[in-house]
Amino acid sequence: MPGNRIGGEIVGVEVFTSLNPCHPSQVLGRFPDSGPSEVDDAVNAAADAQLTWVRVPTPARAQTIAAAGELLASRKAELAQLVSREVGKVGSEAGGDVQEAIDMAAFVAGQGRTAWGTVHPSELPDKITYTTRHPVGVCGLITPWNFPVAIPSWKVFPALLAGNGVVLKPSELAPACADAFVQILWDAGVPPGLVNIVHGHRDAGEALVTHPGVRAVSFTGSVTTGRRVAAAAAETGPKLVSLELGGKNAMIVMPDADLDLVTDGVVFGAFGTSGQRCTSTSRLVVHSDVADEVIARIAGRASELRLGDPVDPSTDVGPVIDSGAARRIHAYVEGAIGDGADVVCGGRITGVEGCGGDFYEPTVLRGVRPDHRIACEEVFGPVLAVIEVASLHEAVDVVNASEFGLSAAVYTRDINAALHAVARIDTGIVYVNAPTIGAEIQMPFGGTKHTGNGFREAGLRGIEQFSETKTVYIDHSGRLQKAQIDTHEPARSAAERPLRQQV
Ligand code: NAD
Repeated sequence: MPGNRIGGEIVGVEVFTSLNPCHPSQVLGRFPDSGPSEVDDAVNAAADAQLTWVRVPTPARAQTIAAAGELLASRKAELAQLVSREVGKVGSEAGGDVQEAIDMAAFVAGQGRTAWGTVHPSELPDKITYTTRHPVGVCGLITPWNFPVAIPSWKVFPALLAGNGVVLKPSELAPACADAFVQILWDAGVPPGLVNIVHGHRDAGEALVTHPGVRAVSFTGSVTTGRRVAAAAAETGPKLVSLELGGKNAMIVMPDADLDLVTDGVVFGAFGTSGQRCTSTSRLVVHSDVADEVIARIAGRASELRLGDPVDPSTDVGPVIDSGAARRIHAYVEGAIGDGADVVCGGRITGVEGCGGDFYEPTVLRGVRPDHRIACEEVFGPVLAVIEVASLHEAVDVVNASEFGLSAAVYTRDINAALHAVARIDTGIVYVNAPTIGAEIQMPFGGTKHTGNGFREAGLRGIEQFSETKTVYIDHSGRLQKAQIDTHEPARSAAERPLRQQV
């Protein structure tokens, strides 16, 4: 039964619905539209449970996370089916969403026995200096709809390993997936109250960000919301605030590139998940020498893609998340045409027989200039803007002209050109001969400029946003030693001298 999950209980009056974007008349669940009071209950429950959890040794915390990963794996098929139905991902992508959570559990559990700090030589004798990591207490986790299982797992598992309690506020467009994820954690033995879920819209998110009991906020979503989150958190701090925001990801294609590889990469990068990934390829920065051929190949493949119900195995591209998204995407395409771009293929909102939801045709626009709106703003739909360039140097400048800095790709057979681009592209993630999507969970994930605020999720760095570094000095000399000042060691008796000197 859906509801908020607070302190090990399912509570709340169900008032808003989650709909299947392919069949919007199908209700997947009713959820509470929470506000400050529900958030307060959840934060208090997390704070209580954290007091016990922090005393559990890290390797034992890791065992609970590993158990959650195993349960996720055993329920992967049913959870993937729910991902398809709630956010419209085709089967392989929905399975990938859940697999990321399974992999993240395994990776994070493995960190339970790794080094938790660093040891350094002291500048003074008989002194030990090291760092260790400490939990922050309660973490507020706010997630978007487009990776409804993976992104909650990217935040919940590292936060738990670091010894925190959590309150998750998932997207109002994907509450059922997040709810099923938390149910699995509870079933796997995560202690009551340690992982809470509060459903709702902006009010619930704001209440979580501004709650004085929340010491770390981890937010993934749009730049607009991320800025609000950062400002609200700053006024109610001190808080660690990590932001993972939008992208305007570009793929460079040089004349010597393998064009079969380019075509496969663009079709997957631009039109997979209906272009609704933060890392979707939305700009193709192609050398003029091969532009005609590359565009013709991509357009040919794009028009062959089958739009349909994501649970049908023959479907390549599912619906967009809702009719508002379809209209927003189309407004961008119309704006691009107004700016002088040409539609090579696609360019329309469309329907599919037997599905009541909105689909957007995979679209290629050519004649786009770097300053056109379609080249600057995140469209979050299956639309590829093609920008032609005359050199690698110009291509890198075009990539870097964006105010986003999440991911970029360069296709070339020339290793020198590839490494030149890798060194100069200003994004958090760079691919060579692979599309702009395809992150692996053991690697840090995040972007530069407006895409984030310097934190990274996943990989070893994923734990940093949920813990504080503690620096420890232990002086066992038995006298006052002053760093930076006490550089001349006073004379000592033979008994006081270090053992090695006495021999
Ligand atoms: P969104 O910003 O509309 O919503 C994200 C979450 O914030 C939701 O849970 C929402 O309810 C909540 N929220 C809304 N207003 C709030 C407020 N004032 N305070 C606190 N919380 C608030 O984003 P979305 O449409 O769900 O997701 C799509 C966006 O997410 C795209 O821009 C995409 O690029 C980005 N995204 C980024 C990454 C990344 O890792 N960089 C990954 C996935 C998606």
